[in-house]
Amino acid sequence: MNNRNFEDFFQLESISGRSLKRLCLSAAEKRDMYWGKSITYSRKVFVPLTNYCRDECGYCTFVKRPGEPGAKIMSPEEVMDVVVRGAELDAKEVLFSLGEKPELRYQVVQDQLRYLGFSRLIDYLYTMCARVLEETNLLPHINAGTMNNEEIELFKPVSASMGMMLENTSRRLLKKGEAHYKCPDKTPIQRLRTLERAGRKNVPFTTGLLIGIGETWKERLETLVDIIEIHRRYGHIQEVIIQNFRAKQGTLMENSPEPSHDDMCRTLAVARLMLPAEISLQAPPNLSDNYLDYIDCGINDWGGISPLTADYINPECAWPKIDLLKVGVGQKGYKLNERLTIYNRFIENSERYLEPKTAERVNFLEANYSH
Ligand code: SF4
Repeated sequence: MNNRNFEDFFQLESISGRSLKRLCLSAAEKRDMYWGKSITYSRKVFVPLTNYCRDECGYCTFVKRPGEPGAKIMSPEEVMDVVVRGAELDAKEVLFSLGEKPELRYQVVQDQLRYLGFSRLIDYLYTMCARVLEETNLLPHINAGTMNNEEIELFKPVSASMGMMLENTSRRLLKKGEAHYKCPDKTPIQRLRTLERAGRKNVPFTTGLLIGIGETWKERLETLVDIIEIHRRYGHIQEVIIQNFRAKQGTLMENSPEPSHDDMCRTLAVARLMLPAEISLQAPPNLSDNYLDYIDCGINDWGGISPLTADYINPECAWPKIDLLKVGVGQKGYKLNERLTIYNRFIENSERYLEPKTAERVNFLEANYSH
C-alpha cells in the first residue's frame, strides 16, 4: 500500500470498529442515496467453457484434473445449445467461466484444443464470444482470470464487460497449507495488474472478495483499499462482489470454518461505506439462507441469476426463483429490477467503454426489453 492507501486503510479500520447496527444503517443510507429503492440482477446463462485449470485453490470443487469424471472442454455445439436455450428463456447475458490456462499444464488439454482447431484456450473463448454476438441477441461477459494486454484487447470487441475476483491480495495465502498454495494465477500482483490493464483499456470490470478463506480482517480491508485505489485511477470498476466461502467435501478446506452471517453483514456494510457510491455492491443470493438481510447491509445487486443453468462453482446451492426473490425484496421495501451485464454509467459513455458490435447489441437490448 502507498501512503494514500494507508489513509484509506485507517479510515476503514476505524469505521469497521462501529456496532453492526450502526454500520448497516449508514451503509443502507449511502446505497439509497445513489441507487434508490432498487435491487438489481442480471438474467443470464452460465457457460463453464472448461473446468480444467492449472491452479489448485484449496476450496474449489469446480476444477477437474485430466482423467477425473466430468473433466472437459465444452464443444461449440454444447455452448451454443445453452446460449440458445437461455435466449428462449429471456436471458440477456452469457457468462463464460473457465479454469486458468490449463493448456500450460496439461498435454491432454493441448490435444483437445488442437482437435477443436485452437492452440490457446483464449482463442477458443474469443471464437465462442464472437459466435454469441453473431448468432444470438445476448451479450457475452468473460471471467477468464488473469489477462495480459493482448488478451484484454482481444476480448474487448466481443464482450460487454469482463470480470475476475481479486479474492484477497494477501501473499500469505499462497503459502503451504493456505487457500492459494500452488496457484500461480492467484499471485496478488498478477491479479492487481489485470485490474489495472482493464482500467487502461476502458473495460467495465467486475471484481470482488472471497470471504473466509483464511484471510485476516486487516487483509480483507487492505484488499478493499487496493480496489478503491485502482478505481480512483481508472473509474472502471463496475461492481464488487462480496462472496462467502463455502466448505466443500473433498477439498483441502472441507473442515475450515465458513464465515458467520454477522461477519458477512459487517464486511458488506464496511465495503459499502468505503467503496465509491457508484460501484455496485453485490452478494450472491444462493449462498446463505438469510440473504435478504444483505439488503440491510447496503447491497444493491444480486449478480447473475439464471433461469436455466446452475451455479457451477456452487452447484449444491440453487438460485432463488426470481418471483420469490421479487417478493422478498419487496417486503424489504425495494423493487427487484433487471439490468444488463454492463451498468448504465458505462452505457452512457459507450464511445469509451464499448466497441461497435457490443454497443449495437446493448442498444438493441435497451430498446427491446424493459429492465
Ligand atoms: S477457483 Fe478458479 S483458479 Fe482456483 S482452482 Fe478453481 S477454477 Fe482454478
